[in-house]
Amino acid sequence: MHLVKRIGWLRAAVLGANDGIVSTASLVIGVAAAGQPRMTILLTGVAGLVAGAMSMAAGEYVSVSSQSDIEKADLAREKSELATDWDAEHRELALIYRRRGLTKELADEVATQLMDHDALGAHLRDELGISEQLVARPVQAAAASAASFSIGAAVPLLLVVLLPLALIGWGVAIGSLFCLAALGAISARTGGVGMLVPTLRVTFWGALAMAITAGVGLAFGATG
Ligand SMILES: [Zn+2]
Repeated sequence: MHLVKRIGWLRAAVLGANDGIVSTASLVIGVAAAGQPRMTILLTGVAGLVAGAMSMAAGEYVSVSSQSDIEKADLAREKSELATDWDAEHRELALIYRRRGLTKELADEVATQLMDHDALGAHLRDELGISEQLVARPVQAAAASAASFSIGAAVPLLLVVLLPLALIGWGVAIGSLFCLAALGAISARTGGVGMLVPTLRVTFWGALAMAITAGVGLAFGATG
């Protein structure tokens, strides 16, 4: 499977999981730092998971739906252009192939044969860059991002359940940063790039978010 096909869905999955880990771990660490009991920490984490997963799904659904709307409008326009002015569409497609390096004669012939075979498909693919693989799928995109967020958020929640109360703060921080680093390394490797910088980058921002919320939690705990 070519890298470009992997990168698309991997990027969304890693982003979702990163979000899940960082936002839920930070929430949990903040509440633990305020000296709250385990059930309150767990409840906060679960509420964070549900809220985060729903907002990721809603955001993804809305943004991919608007892309899908644009694709549908382009499809309808292309259909009507083909129906009303075939010759102009043929010239347009041939010009695209000439720009890609074909001779005029060959470009005309390729455009003729491809339009005879599947005119709409040829124009969508070569003129608009819309192909079957890249068609916007709002529901799948929403479900994928909600699922990856939830999987990420499950890591700190599991640690809240398993760790002694006194160790929840540091335990969730270390466990979550470890998972963030592993995710950073996996996505870098799958994307075919060096692992060090992406891993340090995602771990740094995760640590910063957790440190800030821990500070807020401590301040609240001190005044509480
Ligand atoms: Zn066209």
